[in-house]
Amino acid sequence: RSLPLDSSKVPGSRQVRGACFSLSDPTPLDNPRLVAWSDSALKLLDLQHDAGSSQKLADYFSGNKLLHGSVPASHCYCGHQFGYFSGQLGDGAAVYLGEVVNNSGQRLELQLKGSGKTPYSRSADGRKVLRSTIREFLCSEAMFHLGIPTTRAGTVIVSDDQVVRDIFYDGKAKMENCAVVLRIAPTFLRFGSFEIFKPGPSDRMHEILPQMLDYCLENLFPEIPTSIPKSQQYLELYKEVCIKTAKLVAKWQCVGFCHGVLNTDNMSLLGLTIDYGPFGFMDYFDPNFQCNNSDNQGRYVYKAQPEICHWNLKKFAEAIKESVDLEDSLKVLETFFPVYKKEHFMGMSKKLGFSVSFNDDENLIESFLQTMQDTFSDFTNSFRNLNKLSWPGLENHAQTFDATLESLLEVTNKEKWKSWLEKYVCRLKKESDNAENLLVLDTQRKYLMDGANPKYILRNYIAQNAIELAENGDFSEVRNVLHRLENPFEKEPITQECGSSNYNALPPISALS
Ligand code: AMP
Ligand code: MG
Ligand code: MG
Repeated sequence: RSLPLDSSKVPGSRQVRGACFSLSDPTPLDNPRLVAWSDSALKLLDLQHDAGSSQKLADYFSGNKLLHGSVPASHCYCGHQFGYFSGQLGDGAAVYLGEVVNNSGQRLELQLKGSGKTPYSRSADGRKVLRSTIREFLCSEAMFHLGIPTTRAGTVIVSDDQVVRDIFYDGKAKMENCAVVLRIAPTFLRFGSFEIFKPGPSDRMHEILPQMLDYCLENLFPEIPTSIPKSQQYLELYKEVCIKTAKLVAKWQCVGFCHGVLNTDNMSLLGLTIDYGPFGFMDYFDPNFQCNNSDNQGRYVYKAQPEICHWNLKKFAEAIKESVDLEDSLKVLETFFPVYKKEHFMGMSKKLGFSVSFNDDENLIESFLQTMQDTFSDFTNSFRNLNKLSWPGLENHAQTFDATLESLLEVTNKEKWKSWLEKYVCRLKKESDNAENLLVLDTQRKYLMDGANPKYILRNYIAQNAIELAENGDFSEVRNVLHRLENPFEKEPITQECGSSNYNALPPISALS
């Protein structure tokens, strides 16, 4: 708290040297209220929401009260933003509250996002609004329930304090209520956390690099054997990060998720999805899908994500080269694409219901994607609709073929889908050549597909609808949407009715970008 401001920089900004964290308290908010909570995320902290605890959650997770033993701090990190090194960034709107070890022995860090100014806020206010916190909250929890590694979100708290984010066409400021999201993760360290070690004239940061790597080995990568030489352990750590990142991005591709801001400061050391900003799930399939309006070059479009993650891993290797020989780490980085491709192929194979692999499967996956693209078909629903088809040879196969085609096709492109579906049927037949029981195969295939093809994703218009209602004081829709997203595959039909049953509907034309 006593670190001096660097007067050569913009007011409020400071260059922090020789430290990875700065003590910084959350700034209290006026009249904090609980908007939404995630039971499963709160359970990680051995907490439970009930009628009596709403105000307590609001007080503690707005930052107005501090948990016993909490020593809040903000993290100093750097980053490559849109391909260029930006120098020091840091937690400009977030504070780390400390860590808990829960009843199952899991160690987790707590973080408030939107809790006010920190030494890293630069010229901004350190606040977040209802819109951005609800998006982060819903998407973190959606990703978790889709089985995709992510930071978690426990609560969203709104307050009466207001900030301006946009100006209306008539020049009037749009006031928005400040809100805070509670984030939970084993660590919030990112590639950018290590970029502070870039040697600079007045830095002594390189002395901290081995300390930080040792911390990571001990707390985050316990599976790496301590019996091997230290340099080898560091290299293993780098390898683990490469593998986790490759698997993560493969999973994003398989659900049509686009992160939108894959700067090195938004790349988790543990391969978690982190920092939900302008992210988007695609509606109709477009490899060039872009969700970040300020990404003028299209650097972070959907199809570029694997390449970008690889590029970011290279920057990470460069950042730790004082402790991990760059030649060695770049050699390790070569495993990235093979791991990515395997994970992507396995993910897509499940989505198409293949329990064994054939030579031509890769082409069939490719042609499925191409057909979706050619016909502007919805990514999520096209995959999901394939479960309507029953196995070739079964009595009702012909009717289900027609029904599947019906649900897939855009009227004008019937032939394209028909020809793909015929290839798919041939492929399934090949798998059942020597099978005794087609019904068993069919059941297994549907089970596999229904666990890999979500029925519910966080479509933009669904989030937007919940946000607009919440901005008008009605939080029920945020909670309804969360309940749907907690059961994205709907293997068992939802019994408790909540909100609209059409959360798998296509967006209205007006909402399509
Ligand atoms: P992001 O694009 O969200 O990864 O953020 C880039 C940098 O801007 C990070 O250092 C953030 O902490 C900082 N930042 C984002 N929002 C705010 C805010 N409202 N106030 C201060 N800093 C912020
Ligand atoms: Mg960020
Ligand atoms: Mg952000």
